[in-house]
Amino acid sequence: MSELTARVREIAKRLLDNQQVDVVFGWEKGTEPFSSTPVFIRRPEEAERLVFDEFCIHNLSTYLLDYRDGSEKIGIFVKGCDSRGVVRLLEDEQFTRERLYIIGIGCPGMKDPVAHALAASGLDGNQDTAGLSAKCRQCVHPNPVLYDELLGVQQEPHLRGERFAEVKQIEAMSTAERYQFFADIFSRCIRCYACRNICVACNCRRCIFEETRPQWVGRETNLADNMMYHVIRTMHVAGRCVECGECERACPVGIPLMLLNRKLIKDVNQLFGPYEAALSLEEGAKPPLSRYRTDDPDNFL
Ligand code: SF4
Ligand code: SF4
Ligand code: SF4
Repeated sequence: MSELTARVREIAKRLLDNQQVDVVFGWEKGTEPFSSTPVFIRRPEEAERLVFDEFCIHNLSTYLLDYRDGSEKIGIFVKGCDSRGVVRLLEDEQFTRERLYIIGIGCPGMKDPVAHALAASGLDGNQDTAGLSAKCRQCVHPNPVLYDELLGVQQEPHLRGERFAEVKQIEAMSTAERYQFFADIFSRCIRCYACRNICVACNCRRCIFEETRPQWVGRETNLADNMMYHVIRTMHVAGRCVECGECERACPVGIPLMLLNRKLIKDVNQLFGPYEAALSLEEGAKPPLSRYRTDDPDNFL
């Protein structure tokens, strides 16, 4: 057992033993060696199920949404991206700080469980299983930004190279090329909504995509409706996306959603910044597109 796993178990057991929290969110070993999955434990003896290894890739903050209407106190282990998700929910007033005990872990970067599963199954031996997952290769904030207790070694950013390199490639295309690029990508979307469901920033109680009177976006998987879905989804997380990469990771057809998210991150930073979402918790702070200022840029009107 690794030292970090031992510490995670010890802390969870202590919190439940002392009745400081009612439930602890962490990760346990999945059914395969290359998978670790979220787990929610309520009894001190269940702390033995917890692990912290290179496959704890899920962002646990999203699961707080299932508890937002209750009053239970929750202990939650967070990496850098999970902690920004917690800040997202607190800023959005979907949760209160008093209900949380946050244990931060400096994140060394996670591996891609799907790539490992494909390689192990023999279905695709060309998978890159040596390095970090795609989302972690782009990570600039691996250390928790909000915590009550901190574990592990503080990490340097995992990103190598230029942060918005891929976005700039798309920006350099002509309008027609760019349209074709996105048309090709979005025609693959099966509108399963996994990218919305996994997203901590997609926390509206009533989602526009489920409204029927009026129905803002058609349910068919044709290109026009798919494009409308993606424009709305991306705009709704503009200035709020915490770059956890879970939307792209959850997509069953490999749509590069982080390209769009990062384009909006770059634009919001340029137009309203310097700004990065959910890097700290400040009383009354709101993301740029949730505020109005008379000197906001409006030359597009
Ligand atoms: S995105 Fe960053 S914090 Fe999140 S799992 Fe990857 S390296 Fe860790
Ligand atoms: S849009 Fe994607 S990367 Fe951004 S917060 Fe939601 S799931 Fe995470
Ligand atoms: S997860 Fe992928 S296929 Fe499903 S709605 Fe999102 S982009 Fe479309």
